[in-house]
Amino acid sequence: MPTLVCVPIMVQDEMSASADARAAKDAGADLVEFRVDELFSGNEGEPGSDSAETRTILRIVAACPLPCIVTCRAADEGGAYDGDEPARVSLYERLGAAGGRRLGPDLSEHPPTYLDFEWSHYARSENIAQKINLAVDHPGQVRRLSTGLILSTHDFSGRPADLSRRVLRMRDEPAAKVLKIAYRARTLRDNLELFDLLAERDRPTIALAMGEFGLASRVLAPKFGGFLTFAALRAGAGTAPGQPTVRELLDLYRFRRIGPRTRVYGVVGWPVAHSKSPLVHNAAFDAAGFDAVYLPLPIPAAESDNDSYLAFKATLGELIDHPNLDLSGCSVTIPHKESLVRLAHERGWALDEVSDACGAANTLVVERTAEGAVASARVLNTDAAAAADPIADRLGGLDGMRVAVVGAGGAARAIVFELARRGARVVVYNRSPDRARELADTIAGPLAGRGQVVPMALDAIADSCCEAFVNCTPVGMRGGPAPDQSPIPVAEIARAGRCGSSPVVLDTVYNPVRTPLVIAAEAHGWRTIDGVEMFVRQAERQSHGWTGRWAPRGMMDTLVRAALGEAGSA
Ligand code: NAP
Repeated sequence: MPTLVCVPIMVQDEMSASADARAAKDAGADLVEFRVDELFSGNEGEPGSDSAETRTILRIVAACPLPCIVTCRAADEGGAYDGDEPARVSLYERLGAAGGRRLGPDLSEHPPTYLDFEWSHYARSENIAQKINLAVDHPGQVRRLSTGLILSTHDFSGRPADLSRRVLRMRDEPAAKVLKIAYRARTLRDNLELFDLLAERDRPTIALAMGEFGLASRVLAPKFGGFLTFAALRAGAGTAPGQPTVRELLDLYRFRRIGPRTRVYGVVGWPVAHSKSPLVHNAAFDAAGFDAVYLPLPIPAAESDNDSYLAFKATLGELIDHPNLDLSGCSVTIPHKESLVRLAHERGWALDEVSDACGAANTLVVERTAEGAVASARVLNTDAAAAADPIADRLGGLDGMRVAVVGAGGAARAIVFELARRGARVVVYNRSPDRARELADTIAGPLAGRGQVVPMALDAIADSCCEAFVNCTPVGMRGGPAPDQSPIPVAEIARAGRCGSSPVVLDTVYNPVRTPLVIAAEAHGWRTIDGVEMFVRQAERQSHGWTGRWAPRGMMDTLVRAALGEAGSA
C-alpha cells in the first residue's frame, strides 16, 4: 500500500478546520489529522447529550472530504490537553460509535477513520485500555465499528532509551491497527533505526523523527513502507518540528515516486536547511527519469576541525553502510569539504585531480552492486571546473590568459588550481598575503609547471592588468561580512585601462544574484558571470557524476533564480 500523506490540522474552530481540510484535499493529501486538544476542554455536557465541543468535532469529521484521524493529544506527549482523562476517553468512545444522527441539513455524523491514543496512557490503566478498545475496530470487537486505533508514542527530547521495549509492548496490543513511533532526532543517524523499525513492522506503522535532523524519515517513509507521513498545509502550520509542507513533499521531493528501490542523495553540510541543491538535483533527476531523491543531510560543525571530521566520518559512514538506504552520493559543502578528502584517503576512495591537489572536494559518487553493496566510491571537485568553464567560454580559452583571483580560501584554491592547470597565469590577491603565498606553495607541486600562480596583497589589485577577475571571498554576500561592498575596485581598474575593453568577471557569491561586484562590472561594460551560473554548473557536473546524463542547465538556472528572487523579496 502506498504511503499516505496526512495533513495535521490544529483545530481552533469549525470553519477554519473544515476549510483547511478542503485545502488539504486540493493540495493532494490523502487524509487529515484533526488535532482537537486545543478545542476540547474536557467538558462532557449534560448526561445523554453531547457538549458543544463534541458536536463541533462531530461536525468537522462529518464535513471532512478526506478520511481523517482525530487526536486529542495529552500534554505529557506534546499536546495541549491537560483535562480530565475520563472525559477524553468518553470523547473517543462517542467518536468511535458515531453514526446515523443528523448534524445539520446536509450533514450526518460518521466515525473518523482513526483515533490516535498514546500508548503510555493506554498501558497505564486496564480500564482505559478496555474503554478505548470498545471504541475501535479490532479482531476481538463484537460491535460493527469502522474506526481503527493508532497507538502512539512520542518523545520530544530524543530517542527514548527504552525504545525497543516500548515497540515490543505496543506490538503486544492486538487492538492497535496502526503503531506510531515519533521522537526527536539528534543526528541524522537517528533516522536509521526508524527505517529498521519499518522494515520489521508487523502491521501498518508510522515511524518519524522530529526536528531538522528528521526530515529523511518523513520523506523516505515510502522507501521503507511507512503507513503515512505528515506534511503541513503551509509553512509554519505543522504540529511537530520538522514537518515539510505538502507542496515540498509532493513537488520538491516527488514523494509519490519514492519506492523501495529509489536511490538516495543529499547535501551534507551545516547549515543546509535552506540549500538550493535539493531544488536543482530533484528537478534534474526528474528530467532524467532517474529513480532517486535528494535531501538536506545536516551534519553540524564541532568545536574543533578534528571533532567535525569525526562526526562527518561516523555519520556519513553509517548512511553509506546502511543496507537498505541506497545512499548513492552526496554534495558536500561547508564545513566538510576537507573532511571528504580525508575520508576518501582513509577509505581508499578514488579522487579526481583537483580534489587530490587541493585537499577539498564537494561531491561523492557511490557505485553499488545490484544487491546494494558498495562497489566503489569516488570523490570529485566540481566547483573548480564550474568556475573555469564559463571564464574559458567568454575568453575563448584559458591558455596564456591573465586571471586575478581574490581570496585564498577553499574555493579559491580549487579554482586557481583549475585555471592554472588549463594554462592560465593566475594572480592571487588576498587580504592576508601569507595565505595567498601558502595557496601558491600548496598547489605548485601538483601543478607540475602548468600555468603560473603569483601571490599578491589585496591592495595591489587596482594595478592589475588581467583579462578576467574572480571573487572567491564572501564580500557582497547577503548576511556576510560586507554585503554592500565590492571585493574588486572595478572603477579604479577600469580607469587605469590596463585590462582591455571588456574584462570578464565571475562572482562566486550568488545570494544576492546581482552583487555589488556584478552591478559595478556591468556598469563599466565588463562581461559578467554571476554565482548562480557557477552554482548551476557545479550541480550539473555532480548530477552527471551520479546519473551519467547531463541535466538541463537552463531549467536548473531558472529554478535557482526564481527561488533566490523569492527569498530576495522576503
Ligand atoms: P573561505 O575558505 O572561508 O575563504 C574566504 C576568503 O575570503 C579568505 O581568503 C578570506 O581572506 C577572504 N575574506 C573573507 N572576508 C573578507 C573581507 N571582508 N574582505 C576581504 N577578504 C575577505 O571560503 P570559501 O569556501 O573559499 O568560499 C568563498 C566564497 O565562494 C563564498 O562566498 C562561497 O559562497 C562561494 N562559493 C560559491 C560557489 C558557487 O557555486 N557559486 C561554490 C563554492 C563557493 P583571509 O584569508 O584574509 O581571511
